[in-house]
Amino acid sequence: MKKIPVAAPDLSGNEVKYLIDAIKNEGRVSSAGKYIDRFEVLAAKNFGRKFALSCSSGTTALHLALLALGIGPGDEVIVPVFTFAAPAAVVIHCGAKLVFVDINKNDWNLDVKELDKKLTKRTKALIAVDTYGMPCDYDYIVHWCKAHKIFLIEDAAESHGAFFGGKPVGNFGEVSCFSFYGNKILTTGEGGVCLSDSQELYEKMAILKNHGMRSRGVYDHEVVGYNYRMTNLQAAVGCAQFERFQKFLKARKTMKLLYEKLLANCPSITFQLSNDKKAEAVCWLFSVLINKDIDAVRQKLSEKGVASRPFFKPLHLQKPFQPYAMNQKFPNAEYAYQHGISLPSSTLLTEKQVSFICRNFKRVLADE
Ligand SMILES: *Cc1c(COP(=O)(O)O)cnc(C)c1O
Repeated sequence: MKKIPVAAPDLSGNEVKYLIDAIKNEGRVSSAGKYIDRFEVLAAKNFGRKFALSCSSGTTALHLALLALGIGPGDEVIVPVFTFAAPAAVVIHCGAKLVFVDINKNDWNLDVKELDKKLTKRTKALIAVDTYGMPCDYDYIVHWCKAHKIFLIEDAAESHGAFFGGKPVGNFGEVSCFSFYGNKILTTGEGGVCLSDSQELYEKMAILKNHGMRSRGVYDHEVVGYNYRMTNLQAAVGCAQFERFQKFLKARKTMKLLYEKLLANCPSITFQLSNDKKAEAVCWLFSVLINKDIDAVRQKLSEKGVASRPFFKPLHLQKPFQPYAMNQKFPNAEYAYQHGISLPSSTLLTEKQVSFICRNFKRVLADE
């Protein structure tokens, strides 16, 4: 039996056409080409920032952001303990100290009330992550970062197209980072983008991602750099994805509303709730908390042909990150991990499939 997957890319637009064009007509398969230029223009325009720099992944986007902001040994960077590991890993790659903050119970984003407790003289940056497409409380975060002279880096890998206070996410950080991995709302297969309004930061990141060189074809290294470049082929796919961005968002909104309608009044389910009316979430992964055994529910769902995902395992519970947690407790992150499940989410899901998923999910929950 073919299972309904948790995520699936929608590549049914001009993706193939542009890819073929890049190969056949343009003949550019590496990191120069018209699709790279076009992709960066589209990213800046769609996310509303002056500068957009393409790179090889969401993780390398975050690494470039920290490097350009000068984060290094002796600095502390605050990261939510409940997230995908990438934003935490890049802090360690920079030689800085990772400081975890718990999430709040409603929206599973970093708990702004905990930030003061994490502040020291060495705090240099905060990485804010919009969990599952729910924007953080950027009113509070932007204000707090300004007040304490702390750099804000947005990790909007999961929230393409979400808004806070009428502004698209990606508009709040000194640098804002997006991932275009295959399961994200917009994809280039692998890929990322750094957004900023600062030309200085943009140029620093552009040099760092290109082996420390400012221009091509001249072996002039200004700094020790990296190769974090996106290819023209990935950008070709990305250009086609941007053409249907609004359609994707609409389809995901419809999907989310249907999930919420069909699962309403189910006593074992708690939805992700926004803490702020200003937050306009997008649905990256439709995720809920349940008061049943997650593993058993996922197994039974799988037997019925529905794939699912457990929540992120909080980073303080994972061996490579434990030394940074220093035996602190993060009860809300642990609660979310113990009770959370993500259901299939993509623009390709039909109404029938969402109904099928909900029917079976409710049955499994009733049985458990
Ligand atoms: C997916 C994701 C990333 C990593 O992106 P890659 O493109 O896979 O490197 C970073 N942060 C968050 C929150 C993510 O969900």
